[in-house]
Amino acid sequence: MSASTSTSTTVVNPLLSSWANEPFHLPPFAQIKPSHFEPAFTQGMKDHLNDLQTIVDTSECSFDSIIAKYDQAGSSLSKVSSVFSNMCSSLNTPELQEVQTKMSSILSRHSSSTYTLPGLFEKIQEIHKQRLLLGLKPEQIRLVERIHMDFTRAGAEFTSEKKEEYANIKAELAELSTQFAQNLMKDEEFEIILTKEDMEGCPDSLIEAARTAAQELGKKEDEYVVTLSRSLVEPFLTFSPRRDLRENAWRAWSKRGELDPERDNLAIGTKILRLRKKQAECHGYKTFADYQCVDRMAKTPENVMDLLENVWERAKESANRERLALEKYVMESGDDIGMEGIQPWDWRYYAEKVRVAKYDFDESELKPYFSLDKITDAVFAVSNNLFGLKYVKRPDIEAYHPDVDIYEVRKTAEDGEEKLVAIFIHDNYARPYKSSGAWMSEYRCQTKNLGEGVDKMEGIPIISNNNNFAKGKNTLLSFDDATTLFHEMGHGHHGMLSDATYERLSSTSVLTDFVELPSQLMEHWLEQPEVLKKYATHFETGEVVPDELLAKLKAASNFNQGFGTIEYTVCALLDMALHQMEDYPDDFDLAKFEKDYLEQIGMPKGIIMRHRPAHFAHLFYGSHYASGYYVYLWAEVLDADAFAAFKEAGDVFDKETAEKARKFIYSAGNTVAPDELFRSFRGRDPDINFMLEKKGLTNLAEAQ
Ligand SMILES: [Zn+2]
Repeated sequence: MSASTSTSTTVVNPLLSSWANEPFHLPPFAQIKPSHFEPAFTQGMKDHLNDLQTIVDTSECSFDSIIAKYDQAGSSLSKVSSVFSNMCSSLNTPELQEVQTKMSSILSRHSSSTYTLPGLFEKIQEIHKQRLLLGLKPEQIRLVERIHMDFTRAGAEFTSEKKEEYANIKAELAELSTQFAQNLMKDEEFEIILTKEDMEGCPDSLIEAARTAAQELGKKEDEYVVTLSRSLVEPFLTFSPRRDLRENAWRAWSKRGELDPERDNLAIGTKILRLRKKQAECHGYKTFADYQCVDRMAKTPENVMDLLENVWERAKESANRERLALEKYVMESGDDIGMEGIQPWDWRYYAEKVRVAKYDFDESELKPYFSLDKITDAVFAVSNNLFGLKYVKRPDIEAYHPDVDIYEVRKTAEDGEEKLVAIFIHDNYARPYKSSGAWMSEYRCQTKNLGEGVDKMEGIPIISNNNNFAKGKNTLLSFDDATTLFHEMGHGHHGMLSDATYERLSSTSVLTDFVELPSQLMEHWLEQPEVLKKYATHFETGEVVPDELLAKLKAASNFNQGFGTIEYTVCALLDMALHQMEDYPDDFDLAKFEKDYLEQIGMPKGIIMRHRPAHFAHLFYGSHYASGYYVYLWAEVLDADAFAAFKEAGDVFDKETAEKARKFIYSAGNTVAPDELFRSFRGRDPDINFMLEKKGLTNLAEAQ
């Protein structure tokens, strides 16, 4: 190419160049612009199809030439995709949203085309038929079976006409799902602007967080802002004595996804449900719930419903008792809340009052002992104690935002040498263009199946944890926030400690109802006195959290669990009900469905769904948790039982139990069936009673 024509085409696209000179081969965040993604995707998709075509063209028919190569295929595309999807969640600027809208159906169609590439499925079938005769290792047999199943579940056996219909359904679903998430992000920009007087009665940490939010949004000096981020709006609903303001905040919060008729997420949700029904039909299933559950530990929707209904009935009883306790408090205190009784914008507020009265425990007294810095130290210490991981902060490496921390994670190997295990990215603060909630994600998956000559670094995982804490001068966490941080670190460990040979079976690529076990199990360590006495120290004075306060925290821990269990379980029930429908009539109305369904199952008064349909991203942003919101409760059966193993060992850091947890829960990925993994860890099948006890649902008469 001559110099005169090359000026515009030789500008280097950082997504297409090698990252081998970047520290740990991290993406060169500072250089990546939204405009780089489309050309990088185009090239990545082309490379992926070329890789797959090479498999089709090879004359050799072996595990290595077909299955191992398939697992490696498309590595350049997955690099681009992982940066893209991470940015779409953590820093989804309007420019990037445009790219996301444009690319969603194109990427979906590319994915469909990989499953229908002529000749590819035949090759995989060939190995699948012979899998038990080839002298393969158990992990290799599982990989063959998994990939074969991925193909059949993606419609590889359909006629060409049906394949086209299926690809259209998937592409439309991808577009709708993107739109759902973008609408939600827009609605969450909603701001409740308040004055100093409005904030009266709120704890200092909340006032400071609302002031910081106002500053970041460029508001006037005497203004305070409560956004619809959970870490701001929940404390406001808990502490603000102003019933009118609580009602306003609650109304906006509970209407996310339907605040503007232009962004009607209920209509989008309905379209998604109809398309999923068609998708299930293509596979010969009556409902989408049937299609989803086949590939889960639960196996059938009936098994899911058994668990949910068992818990629902107990939780209703518990929540109704709690409401009576709140109403009694209201009567005695002389507050006038009208004939209707406790409303959803009252529950948290009065629950907190009753908690203080009954257990003399005030959540805001605890907060100064839970600074983000200290709780991060705590989780790193737990990680070190259990699994020997060491975290070295690398402020010299630039991430995509100044608030984001990067760590190298090291471990001393058996030969005494310290080795790099993973790179960990910690993104803790709420900010504009970041999705709400908390999640773990990966920039690079652990794998040992690297192509010839590929640097081993490419198999070292890059794991990211996102939270949405309200940033303050000193960021102070509620106990729930701290639990969330531990939860995501549990997922983080699932990625960092992964020790699979093949990427398809590594890390969190497990069945959906196993995926919350590593995360929820990690939450247990936050509550341990060994941890709290060392790390829950006052952010100003350094004083250790008083025993008395911890005793109160423990005593109050079962309080209001009925509320928590109800607001979660109702979401899981509604999810199953929606996806078990065999027909969505023309006049189907998601809002009416919600109302009727809640009435039908006897939803306790004064509580609403934790995620109402218009902002239920688990259900409508991607399909991973669709007909699968139950997995948290399913995993709670597993995690409560699994943590009991440490208790039984007499030491929550018992070395032998920790090593078993590493091996069977955190490192195995999907190399072994999940029920088998649990049995290897615990020596038996899970027992539901540990979960019921933890949730205070075993002996309801004593719970209040
Ligand atoms: Zn989780």
